[in-house]
Order: sequence, then structure tokens, then C-alpha cells
Amino acid sequence: MSQPVAPAAPSSTSTSTSSSALDFLLVAGRLKTSKRTGWVHHGVPLPESISDHMYRMALAALLLLPDDGDAPPDYRTRAALIALVHDVGEAITGDIVPHDPMGRAEKLRREEEAMRDLHDLVARATTPASSPPSSSPSSALLLSLYNEYESQSTAEGRAVKDLDKFEMVLQAYEYEVANPGLDLSPFFESVRGKLRGDRVREWMGELERRREELWAGRRAAQREAEARTEATLAGRGERRARLLLGLGGAAAAVVALLFVAPRRRG
Ligand code: ZN
Repeated sequence: MSQPVAPAAPSSTSTSTSSSALDFLLVAGRLKTSKRTGWVHHGVPLPESISDHMYRMALAALLLLPDDGDAPPDYRTRAALIALVHDVGEAITGDIVPHDPMGRAEKLRREEEAMRDLHDLVARATTPASSPPSSSPSSALLLSLYNEYESQSTAEGRAVKDLDKFEMVLQAYEYEVANPGLDLSPFFESVRGKLRGDRVREWMGELERRREELWAGRRAAQREAEARTEATLAGRGERRARLLLGLGGAAAAVVALLFVAPRRRG
């Protein structure tokens, strides 16, 4: 993201569920304006936000076909929910890219701490003020969706991991289409061979095909432009040569008039 986000500021003195609900939603609102770091680093103009990314992943989850025939009936719904939650901790930590100097362990520690803070906020938002806000069905759901994604312990969690990678390269493709000259190959290279589900692998194949078409079209246009430039330069050269020949002829005539003709007369 472009701007660091301050740590979550749940109001510790608030005991009202509405106040905690608003606190949670306001913290989550940061996801709407936090830019995805990878695009910022690659100079993409007007990069998407973290919630843009999660929203399309959730839609993509609806298109999933469970690879496992015994998948539960709510497979897609659960996958869509995991997609909507998987990066929610970034509302507090910001989008930390894998190669960030802070390292993987520290990144994980911060994310888990952020998820605990969000869990507690949701627990307070959904528990009557008289009860201790240790947990609630809503906060437990939030945490279990996140853990499912992180631990890859279920088919839905694994499918959403695929969607996370696929949505990123789909976005990279869109940025390449919109910005001629922008080459986001590193994003594609980081995903190749890492998708596990058949369905998303098929989508990736189709995306690679369209991207190849895009770049082949651009290479052909480039060659055409170069050929046109060469033809123009060659045409200019020919005209210049003719002009020089013409000038040469005129000079010869002048020389003849000045020197040769008078001598004949004398
Ligand atoms: Zn993600």
C-alpha cells in the first residue's frame, strides 16, 4: 500500500456493541483505500485497493467447481467468505509483500496480532455488553476463515490460495492491456506451476493465451511501425539524392556558361 496504516485503534473504553461494530467497519474501511504494494512498486498508475482484490476473488469463488466430488454443498459460499476475509488483517498491517525486508516470520507475527485485534473487536460488536467479550460466533467465524486460508487445511482454503494468485495475474494482465509498455512478467512467473486446482489452472491457461495474443499483436505493430519508419527514411534519402543530382547538373551548366562558352567565343 502507498501509505502505512496506523495500528487498529479499537476503543478499549467502549462497551457498546454498536460502537465496536463501527470501529470494526471503520478499520475494515481502510482496505478500500490501501493500494496493493506490488502495483505501487511497479509504477502502475491508479493501482487497485486490497478490497478490490478480495472482492473479485469472492466472485471468482462462485465459479469454482470442487475438484473433490465429496465437497460440501456450501463449498463456494465458504470459499467466497474466505476470499473476503483472507487479507482483512492488512487493514492494520498494510500490504506486506513477500520480499519485504522485515522477513516472513515478522510478517506472520504482525498479521496474527492484527487478526487477534479484529477478532476482539468483532467479539465486542456481537456480544451483549454484560458478557465478557472473549469470543462470539461471528468473531470465531472470522478467525476460522482466516486460519483455513493460512493453514490450507481445507479444500476451500486451498482453492482460495489459488484464487489469490490467479486474481493477481488477471489484474496484471488488465494493467498491461491498459498501459502499453508496462511489462508485468514477474507476476506471471511467480504464479506459473504453483496453481493446484484444475479449474483455476484452466483459467490460467486461457489467461496466458490471451496475454500471448496481446504481446504478439504488440510485437507485430512494433515491426510494422519500424518498417514504415525505414521506408520513410529511404524515401527521404532518394529525394535528397535526386536533389543533389539536380544541383550538380545546374552547377555544371553554370561552369560551362562561365568558362567554356566564353572561350569558344574568343
Ligand atoms: Zn490476497
